Parts: sequence; structure tokens; C-alpha cells
Amino acid sequence: MHKTTQRLIELDKKYLWHPFTQMADWLAGEPVIIERGEGYYLMDTEGRRYIDGVSSLWCNVHGHSVRMIDEAIRRQLDEIAHCTLLGLGQSRSIELAERLIRIAPRGLSKVFYSDCGATAVEIALKMAYQYWHNRGDKLRTRFIALRESYHGDTVGSVSVGGMELFHGIYKPLLFETLFAPTPHPYRFNGTPQQCAQHSLNAIESLLKDNAGTIAGIILEPKVQGAAGMIVHPAGFLKGVETLARKYDVLLIVDEVATGFGRTGKMFACEHEDVRPDLMCVAKGISGGYLPLAATLTTQTIFDAFLGRVDEFKTFYHGHTYTGNALACAAGLASLDLFEKNHVLKKMSEKTDLIVVALEDIRTLPFVGDVRQCGMMVGIELVKNKTTKESFEYKHTLGAKLCAAMRPKGVMLRPLGDVIVLMPAPAMDRMTLTKLLAVVCDSIQNDLPEIVKGL
Ligand SMILES: *Cc1c(COP(=O)(O)O)cnc(C)c1O
Repeated sequence: MHKTTQRLIELDKKYLWHPFTQMADWLAGEPVIIERGEGYYLMDTEGRRYIDGVSSLWCNVHGHSVRMIDEAIRRQLDEIAHCTLLGLGQSRSIELAERLIRIAPRGLSKVFYSDCGATAVEIALKMAYQYWHNRGDKLRTRFIALRESYHGDTVGSVSVGGMELFHGIYKPLLFETLFAPTPHPYRFNGTPQQCAQHSLNAIESLLKDNAGTIAGIILEPKVQGAAGMIVHPAGFLKGVETLARKYDVLLIVDEVATGFGRTGKMFACEHEDVRPDLMCVAKGISGGYLPLAATLTTQTIFDAFLGRVDEFKTFYHGHTYTGNALACAAGLASLDLFEKNHVLKKMSEKTDLIVVALEDIRTLPFVGDVRQCGMMVGIELVKNKTTKESFEYKHTLGAKLCAAMRPKGVMLRPLGDVIVLMPAPAMDRMTLTKLLAVVCDSIQNDLPEIVKGL
């Protein structure tokens, strides 16, 4: 190991606290320190190369060190890096807002910027609540969400989150949310259609039983990422929209993970022609370059906040780096690249590659379920394929398998025992083929050995 690597690891262990990480394990291990990115590869301080198989935690879109985005940021740097949007306009944030509305589901016409997925969700929740409040409907203080949903880690977004592992401990700090079962076909006794209907029925019961007190329904459209890439049955999203309209509550879609091409369309809502009242985007919005997020909403909601200052209808919310100019410049360049490189059009042949590889993987020992929507893939490992019994959490099997892929040049981060693949939507076929081959090989050859040693 190089001296500089050694030194960086020492300093990291001395000074950093990493997100979603048991630091005792981290301190006992030998972390990889990334120094460079090139295309779809990450390079560490030892000169080793890894395919970035989860798009640097689901945000990278066109690869790393992409010339057009790099140059857009440099050009912006020559003008201004950041100025506030509190009381001022800024060129890039205006241009990006127009572009976002042009590609967003119909009906969305206003953009409220922030800087991460969690804040985009916080903003949607507060807007939804205040929308009703401003109209004089002050009893609508609660939201319906799906169990096992994930909307970010701030207290408001955790309140509408349903993942026991991440959220359970914070319950005493949270506001009350009504939860409906996640439509999870693999863990449901019945057909995918019955599974979807079961969840829809539960949502409808909540809407009926709590009439007049619900501000909105929030969900991750099509794919529940953090829950383990749970892919909803076809028609479920449309069903939720229909219920939102029937019971006159707002529909909030959290496209933070699914947006910007991840599912094969620009936004997952497009699969079922769904028109949300509020849409949260983050992760891929800047091409995965800089922290940026946005909450998109309709003219109707926007209009409910208009009035004299002393009517107190103003949306009193903002963040210092709201609509950062460098990040917006990256976002604009990313949207240009979508067009220039026909990213969405080229995705179907790449999803075909994934589908074929997954057919092989499905037959391997310990593979309980494979789930896929566009470039979002979850491979769930189970102890017993017949009973679907899981491995014990303490074994951290998913992490061990992903660690075994590193020497083979693949960098992944699992969700428990779900191996997640989320290659960049623009990843080339050759790199994608290699990624799939390593994953398949590791499940076939490394996994049985790891299981034996548990
Ligand atoms: C990642 C994610 C978030 C949170 O985004 P951050 O930028 O990490 O705050 C919210 N919702 C969904 C669906 C996500 O996948």
C-alpha cells in the first residue's frame, strides 16, 4: 500500500463519521479511498479501477469526468458559483426550471429548489399541508405513505418513511403518518394483481376512515429503492392516482431515485401516465455532480399561496444553497447530454442485456428473487429458495458478497441481502456486460463459499 493511501486511511479513521455505516466495522476494515472518476469507473489511491455499479449511490447519469458537464461547471465558475434565490433571480436556475417543466409530467408548472432528496420531500409535505391550510381547510394534517418506503433522513421525511431498520428508533420524534402495505409481489401470497389490489384497498380504507384529515399520499413511483428495489405491479401507481382524485387528496411522488432516466423513462410517472400534484427530484438532477434538488408543483397549488403579506400565505421555507448556480449549470449540461446522446432511446437495448443476464442469475443457488425496472435492479439472496427464508441480519451476507466483487473490479453497495445494481443510464454496453458478468460469476462462485463460512 502506498504511503499516501495509508496516511489518508489513518486520517479518515481519525476524523470521519460515515453515513449509514457501523463505524466499528469501518475502523476494523481497510477502506477504499477514491481519488478519480473516469467514465463509468472509479479509481482509488492505489490505482485500482472499479466499475461504478450503483452510480455513486444512484445519482450519476452520464459517467464521471464528462467533458460537457465539466466545462459547463467551469464556465459557470467564471461567472458566479452561487448567489441566493431569496429575493434575487439567477440565470442558470431560471433556465433549468424552464427545462425541468418542459420534461416533467403534464400539469407541473412551478419549481422550488433545494439541495437534497430529503429537503425536496420536506418541501412537498409542507407545501401540501399549507396548501389546504391556506384554503381554510386546517384539519388536513396527516399523510398516507407506504410501509417500507424511504424518503430521506430528516425528521419530516423519516416521519413518512416506513423502514423499521432505518426509522424505527426515531419514532418518538416523528409526526403521525398512516401507513398502507407495500405492494411487494415476492412477499405476497397471491398474484401481482391481487398484491396491488390489496394495497390499494388498504389505502382506500385509510382515505375513508380518515376523511377530511389527509393532506396527501406520498410514494416512490414504480420502484421502492431503499426497501430493496421493490418493483410495484403494473397499474398500482395509476390506482393510487385514481384514489387521490376520488378522495380529493394531493398526490406526491418521490422521484428522487427513479427520476432522470433510471427506469427507462425520464420519470417513472410516465410509465402509467400519472400526473402528480407534487414531484420531488434530486439525485440525478445534476447528472450526479453536485447537490441539487427540486420540488415541482402545479399552478393550483402555487396560486393558493398568493395574497397580501399580512394574509400569511407565504411559503416560509428556504435553504442557503437553494438553486445553486454551479449545480444548475451541471443540471442543464446533463439535460443537454440526454438529448445529444439519445440516452433514453438507447436504454431499451441495455435493459434487454440486463433482463437476459437476470434470467441466468435467477436460477442460481440462494437467489430468491430478481427485480428490475429499467436500470434499477435488486437481486434478493435468501437462505431457502422454497420457503423464502432470509439469512440472519448479523451475517451481512450482501456486504460480504459485494466485498468479494471488489478485487474483480466492481464496486457495489447492497441493501441488506439485496444486491443492488444501478448502473448509470448512459453506461455503455461493454461496461454493462462486464458488470453483469462479474455479478453473475460472484453469485455463482463466491457466494456458496461465503455461505459455507457464515
Ligand atoms: C435517496 C432518496 C432520498 C433522499 O435523498 P438525499 O439526497 O439522500 O437526501 C429520498 N427519496 C428517495 C426515493 C431516495 O431514493
